[in-house]
Order: sequence, then C-alpha cells, then structure tokens
Amino acid sequence: MTEPRRDSRWWGWGDPDVPTELGEAAERMLGERGISTGADASPPEIDRVEIPEAVPVDERVLSAAGAENVFTGNEDRIRHANGQNYLDLLELREGRLQHAPDAVIVADSGPRIAAILEACASAGVAVVPFGGGSSVVGGVTPLKGDHESVISLDLAGLRGIEVDDRSLTAKLGAGLRGPEAEALLAERGFTLGHYPQSFEYATIGGFAATRSAGQSSSGYGRFDSLVSSIRLITPEGELSTLSTPHTSIGPALREVVVGSEGILGVIPDVDVRIRPLPAARRYEAWIVEDFEAGCEIVRGLAQADRLPTIIRVSDDSETEVNLAMALPSGTAGSLFRRYLKLRGREGGALVITGYEGSPAAVHRSRSDVAREIRRGGGVYLGQAAGKGWEKGRFHGPYLREALLERGVLVETLETAQQWSGHRNLYETVRAALKSELAANGMEGIVMCHLSHAYRDGASLYFTVISTQGPDGGAANWPKVKRAACAAIQSAGGTLSHHHATGRDHAPWIEGEIGTSGIEALAALKERFDPSGIMNPGKLLDASRAGSDPPSR
Ligand SMILES: Cc1cc2nc3c(=O)[nH]c(=O)nc-3n(C[C@H](O)[C@H](O)[C@H](O)COP(=O)(O)OP(=O)(O)OC[C@H]3O[C@@H](n4cnc5c(N)ncnc54)[C@H](O)[C@@H]3O)c2cc1C
Repeated sequence: MTEPRRDSRWWGWGDPDVPTELGEAAERMLGERGISTGADASPPEIDRVEIPEAVPVDERVLSAAGAENVFTGNEDRIRHANGQNYLDLLELREGRLQHAPDAVIVADSGPRIAAILEACASAGVAVVPFGGGSSVVGGVTPLKGDHESVISLDLAGLRGIEVDDRSLTAKLGAGLRGPEAEALLAERGFTLGHYPQSFEYATIGGFAATRSAGQSSSGYGRFDSLVSSIRLITPEGELSTLSTPHTSIGPALREVVVGSEGILGVIPDVDVRIRPLPAARRYEAWIVEDFEAGCEIVRGLAQADRLPTIIRVSDDSETEVNLAMALPSGTAGSLFRRYLKLRGREGGALVITGYEGSPAAVHRSRSDVAREIRRGGGVYLGQAAGKGWEKGRFHGPYLREALLERGVLVETLETAQQWSGHRNLYETVRAALKSELAANGMEGIVMCHLSHAYRDGASLYFTVISTQGPDGGAANWPKVKRAACAAIQSAGGTLSHHHATGRDHAPWIEGEIGTSGIEALAALKERFDPSGIMNPGKLLDASRAGSDPPSR
C-alpha cells in the first residue's frame, strides 16, 4: 500500500522545514515600491479548514481500488483540493475550500488504474489524475462536472524504473517526482535533464500530461521531445505507442497523449530519452544593455544553432528584483552596480548561461556563446553570480510563500511567439498587466524573462508582484489575468508555452486552436471517455467558452 504524500506545506509550496524568508534587501525594495502590506496572511490550523462535505464513494469504485488505497481523511482531501496558482494558494490560506475530492485513491499499477476507471465510468464518478499537484492553471481542481462525486487519483504508487542503456531510454513511473527520477537515473550514470522550477514535487506523468519545459530545455529539450513512447489508460481501453526513434505511420498518436492533461485517461509510465550524466557544468552571469539586446543575442545564438544548455534573459525590472531577492545580493548585486557605474548605465538586463556536457563540449559551447554575448555588448559578471542562480534555481516558490504570508499578490504567466512578433508580444502583455493593475488600484511590479529559445521564436515569462488592491486579490487577479490573456491573443502569442491549459485557459483556447480544433479534441474525448468522467472542466470546457478565467 502506498499512502498519499504528506511531506510538503499543505497550504502552499515546499518543504515545511525550509524557511521562507525575504531578506532585508527584498523587504526594502517592497517598501520602496509601496507593496509591503504588513498584513499577516498565515494559514489557519489544518483542522479549521472548511471543506465541502464528502459524498460517499460508490462501492464499485472502492472494490476496484482496494479499500486500503482509498483515503477520505480531511488532510488528504485538502492536499488534493488545489494546485499552486495564486487563487489556489489564497484559498488555502483563507481556509475555505470551494472544491475537494470526495476521496483520494492511490493507484499502484496499470491494471488497477484500468479497473478504477471502468468502475468510475459505470458509477458516474469523476476522476482527476493527480501527479505532484503543481499545476498553476487549475489542472487538478476537483470539479465534478455532471457527476455525483469526484475522486483524486494520486499516482504516487507508480515509481518504477527500467533502463535500456543501449538505446539510452528509460521507462519511468508516472508518480516519480523530479528528484526521485534523477536520483534513480544518476545511480545508473544517466540524467533526464528536465528541471522545471517545480522539479521538487512535479512528476513524470505531470510533465508528460502538460508538455512541460525545464530550465535546461535549450540543451536537453522540452519534456515532449524527451518522450520516446507513452501509454494511456482510458475508461475505454489502452492506447500505447511503439518504442521507436521515429515513425511515419500517420499523425503522431504520441502527441495526442502528451499534453492531454488528464482529460482522456491516465498515463501510467513514460519511455523517455536519457543521456549520460554530464562530466562538466559551468554557469555564469552577464549583463547586457537591455532586454531587447539580450533577446537579440539569444536569437542570434538560436539561429546559429549555438544555444547553451541554459540561457535566460531578465528584463530590467526582473534584473533589479532578482538582484534584491533571489541571487546572493552580496556578490552579484555589488558586481552589477560596479559595472553599471563604470559604464555609466542606469540599468541593464541580466543574462544567465549554463553549459553541461563533456569538458570539451562545455569549453567549446562556452567560447562560442561568450563571443556572441560580448559582440552584443554584454559584460561578464562571473561564475559566482551564475552559481548563485544555479543554487537558488528552485527557491523562487519559497520566496513566493514569504510574499503571500505578507498578503502580497504574486502570480506568473507565460507565452511564446515567433521572433518577428516577440517584441510586440512583450510590450503588449506588459502594458496590459500594468494598466489592469492600475485600474484596480493595485501597486505592483511587472517583470519578465525569456527562458526558452528556438530558431523561430522564444518564450516570455511574466511575474506580477503587487498589492491585492481595494477589492482584494481574489476579485482582482481574475481581471488582471483576463487582460493578459486578451493581450496575448491580440499579439498572436500562445496562451501558454509550458504551463498548459487546465481550467484557467480553457475558455480561451478556441481563439488559439479554432472551432475545428475544439471539435477534434472533443471527438477524441468522446472516443476515450464517453461518459465524461476524466478531469471535467479542464482543457475542453465548452460550457464556459468565451467566458472569463474562473474566480474562486
Ligand atoms: C513553483 C512552480 C514552478 C513551476 N515551474 C514550471 C516550469 O519551470 N516548467 C513547467 O513546464 N511547468 C512549471 N510549473 C507548472 C507545473 O509544475 C507543471 O505543469 C508540471 O508539469 C505539473 O506536474 P505535476 O506532476 O505536478 O502535475 P499535476 O499538477 O498533478 O497535474 C497537472 C495536469 O496533468 C494531469 N496529470 C498529472 N499526472 C497525470 C498522469 N499520470 N496521467 C494523466 N494526467 C495527469 C492532471 O490531471 C492535471 O491536469 C510550475 C509550477 C509551480 C507551482
């Protein structure tokens, strides 16, 4: 029997033993910008959290699951009630949940999943596949749809690994978290190289179901490109793709499963492409004139096939905030200020580069990249600042907890666009965010970085840190998010480069994939999930087409 995991903060992100502190510089910066609220938004004790009463789980589902795998205690229901977007976290901290699964069922094998789905389909019980619960788009919100009850199907019991060291592939259980998968691979001398910021808790199944991208995806590839073959267990049987490097047999069914966000079935395991552990790693930081100059350097590198393993460019606002909050302000901050002074500049854009591979490959790539950054006007800040970024690369969500604790609104959203429209997308979304914050009386910072680049374009990742405004964050954030989605679509960007659709983007996807696209997805859903039990209200949500993103 595997129990659901209970090792993170139930009200938010992270290991409860890792403190969430802002530090003096960050406190000062927030104060200077009028964002410090002085509020105490600590969560209540878990036994004071109000949750909807549970509907008893149908006997057929209980017997398919095995009674020992069914958990109906409040703590488990609360831990599976929300993902990790701002509204999720606000609701948890307020201690009043609108939705909670009626039961959490831990799946431990493919046949068990098939039996549970069959029982849920005949009993009319909605099923929400749950990996790490790190969705930031409402992907794991336990909505019932037209059904009487809903279970959260936790895949924590699926943690197997089989390595084919001749083909350099591995079959990884869907429930393995990022660090668990990397540790199992490292024991055998390999790596997957997938490091999203949610690495600590997000799972292999979740990466596949959301087409995730990691911080090292320029070098190792996005998760979808790491998938060699995949399996999907649906209420109407199993779909699996051949383990082959490539096939020209029809449209790629692998792509139907990758990104299916739990609406068609459950991914029990994924065959991924792996690599030998890198023998050398080097991370460094640069400062360039401004965001546009940084993006141009990245475009040049991408189009010359010279991207390093990691390359990120922060705009001026993010550079300033990063230096105050995330990077060790000591070294990077003082170097940054010294260089600005020397060059008589007001501000600049931080560029982080990372190289992983054999020592010769790292050396070669580093020389190429450094030459191009210098040619683009970049100034070297050294390896200490790069290492500082590397060390703190998964710490951002802990800082967010510290901000939420003070009643500050913190949220992110991301998009991508071709190079010809990239600058316009940046300006349009930034302007929309700023103007909507102002319209709602919110004092805030809007910052952005580029973290995933291609020959034809790149992603943009926005972070908003602001006061909640007079009407409160729960009322105001949906308005800001709506303005951002509208701006993204008006500038030809995608609703999401890697966070996926979930519940939040579902009302907007027709604008991206068109009516035929929606109908094609609906036909697939009808084939694999005719009773509509799989993750209702996510990805495809015809009932809410054209409406606003949900408020809580
Ligand atoms: C702090 C933070 C940082 C983040 N950084 C990144 C980032 O750098 N890159 C990135 O891509 N994303 C990022 N995300 C978003 C999120 O981590 C990813 O979407 C991740 O891939 C979700 O994995 P998970 O295991 O937590 O999935 P969950 O949140 O549990 O589920 C996500 C969706 O996939 C479905 N699902 C999960 N497992 C399965 C399965 N086995 N079979 C079928 N459906 C399934 C769920 O039903 C849901 O719709 C971040 C989130 C947070 C909170």
